[in-house]
Amino acid sequence: MTFDVDHVVPDRAAVLELQGIPPETGLPDHLEGLYAAALRLLTENAAPAAVLADVSKPRFGTIYQGEGNNEHRTPVADIFPAAERLALFAVTMGPQLERAVRACFDANDFAVGSMLDSVASASTDRAADLVQARFRAQLDRRGLLRSDTGILRYSPGYCGWHISGQRRLFEYLEPEQIGISLRDSYLMQPLKSISGVLIAGPRDIHDIADNYDCCESCDDHGCRERIQSLFAEQAADKTRQSE
Ligand code: SF4
Repeated sequence: MTFDVDHVVPDRAAVLELQGIPPETGLPDHLEGLYAAALRLLTENAAPAAVLADVSKPRFGTIYQGEGNNEHRTPVADIFPAAERLALFAVTMGPQLERAVRACFDANDFAVGSMLDSVASASTDRAADLVQARFRAQLDRRGLLRSDTGILRYSPGYCGWHISGQRRLFEYLEPEQIGISLRDSYLMQPLKSISGVLIAGPRDIHDIADNYDCCESCDDHGCRERIQSLFAEQAADKTRQSE
């Protein structure tokens, strides 16, 4: 699947957060100029594309084991057996955007390069959100969406899923077809890419505690916000239905 670049323009707050700037801060003119330049470069260079494939639970179980390097107890291992549907995905902003970031640094234009790097990261997250939304829409069309269905994505390299798990994920998904390759380090090329599994099932299955071994070294406990958003979505649905 491909996306219009306009649809992956990130939230300003997400970009500023990556720059270490509180979102409510008014930006001085020179930073506004950098932000505008970075958005222009995004529009000129990004080519967002994604691949998405259903996967059965037994097959995902094998893929998730990867090279056997996952932590003993992990959120995904606890969540996916209770899922109703699973899909693997990979999404990228394309090689040209990466070249544009590098060109800024090569030209010693560090300020624009740094802002563009943040814009590119935030837009990759935005593109992954769109993949998740399309998966939801596909389930809806196939009559597989229930009122309590919650979908969240999980990626190798996070929450105890060892990054070497990319190997089996790539073997199944073949994201090379959209230009993503895997380096020996298991990082993706282009770097502005995200891969993982979309887990759809009753919302409650995602409501994990953050008390796994991997949580001790977790910087942001980002799962708390994701779980909160999932249940806020449910509350909004209920309000819409009652109107
Ligand atoms: S605290 Fe961090 S490592 Fe633990 S489940 Fe949440 S996001 Fe994952």
